[in-house]
Amino acid sequence: MDSDLIAKRKALLAPSYRLFYDDPVHPVRGEGAYLFGADGKRYLDAYNNVVPAGHCHPRIVEAVARQTATLNTHTRYLHEGILDYAEALLATFPKPLGQVTFTCTGSEANDLAIRIARYVTGGTGIIVTENAYHGVTATVAEISPSLGPSMPLGPHVRTVPAPGVGVDFAAGVRAAIADLLRHGIKPALLVVDTIFSSDGVAADPPGFLAPAVAAMHEAGGLFLADEVQPGFGRTGAAMWGFMRHGVAPDLVSLGKPMGNGYPVAGLVARPEVIAEFGAKIRYFNTFGGNPVAMAAARATLAVIQDERLMENAAATGAYLAAGLAAHGRVRGAGLFIGLELPGAALAARVVNGMRRRCVLISASGPGNNVLKIRPPLVFGRTEADLLLAALQESLADG
Ligand code: PMP
Repeated sequence: MDSDLIAKRKALLAPSYRLFYDDPVHPVRGEGAYLFGADGKRYLDAYNNVVPAGHCHPRIVEAVARQTATLNTHTRYLHEGILDYAEALLATFPKPLGQVTFTCTGSEANDLAIRIARYVTGGTGIIVTENAYHGVTATVAEISPSLGPSMPLGPHVRTVPAPGVGVDFAAGVRAAIADLLRHGIKPALLVVDTIFSSDGVAADPPGFLAPAVAAMHEAGGLFLADEVQPGFGRTGAAMWGFMRHGVAPDLVSLGKPMGNGYPVAGLVARPEVIAEFGAKIRYFNTFGGNPVAMAAARATLAVIQDERLMENAAATGAYLAAGLAAHGRVRGAGLFIGLELPGAALAARVVNGMRRRCVLISASGPGNNVLKIRPPLVFGRTEADLLLAALQESLADG
């Protein structure tokens, strides 16, 4: 019984855990864009960005199983797997981004980026958007205002309004830099989730990031593109969200979709930025970059490329966005879409109404009024039509 599981969770798990939906979902199996519930129902997964290749993709499952049965050690031994993957991964980046550190989570990648930025710049000031989320370590929780007022931001942190209608993003960053300097704090790092997912999704106009990054560079700080959400082709037009804006990050953090569910993440860097830091301070992450993680990541990237999932994200995303536009303002790119509704109460009703119709999405943004849709990249027109029908009915629930 699901009510027994809910009671047991309350008793056994830390109180920080949250469940999705008024009536939580209990999946027992996944395949492609679908989850199958303990209730015998089939759910359309339009929210899971951790499985770009779809749930339980056979080629990735096989690669993980084969490597698990062969060898799993760490990065202090020679192994081809980490080098094969690093080569394939770095080939998807513009040239200056030429070296990678592997971690287990996006939080660790962002945490490492902050350490590097402090070391390189000698500063501590960090600029993020007003409703940003960058992870769970002590350092990155302090730059994650979306965790709410009970999680204090560090005194060295400044927030800027997320891009949107009537917002000059670069002006916000320039003002934050000025405020840091006025308080005697040297700017170290501008951190941006390049699709602004927790801020309610923002992609347009392409290029709006460039003057903000230029301002940070002029102030002597670095720019970290957090690609944990938009990366690996989700935005359709490019492998990485920052490419949409024609900017050259110093550091790029990766995570979620990287291993199609296997915990693997990383930080890509310009070699000259990390040369001295790396020479002076060793980095050993026990599980990061292990042969099984690398097999998962290598197979995931191969599936994204061989099955042309980025192209599918562009095509299905455009089709879905066109259908959604009848119901409100649509934001986003590829298969990362936000649909703006008039208020949080309606958004919550729609999210739960769609869940009752077995279509899984969520809501985000500072006002919690933006429906957030980011399905596995194998999502096709059939799935888009199912989603649009469930949305129409849920909006009509009143
Ligand atoms: N950055 C962004 C933009 C994220 O959305 C998340 C996770 N939701 C993270 C970082 C942290 O990644 P992880 O949960 O793997 O630590």
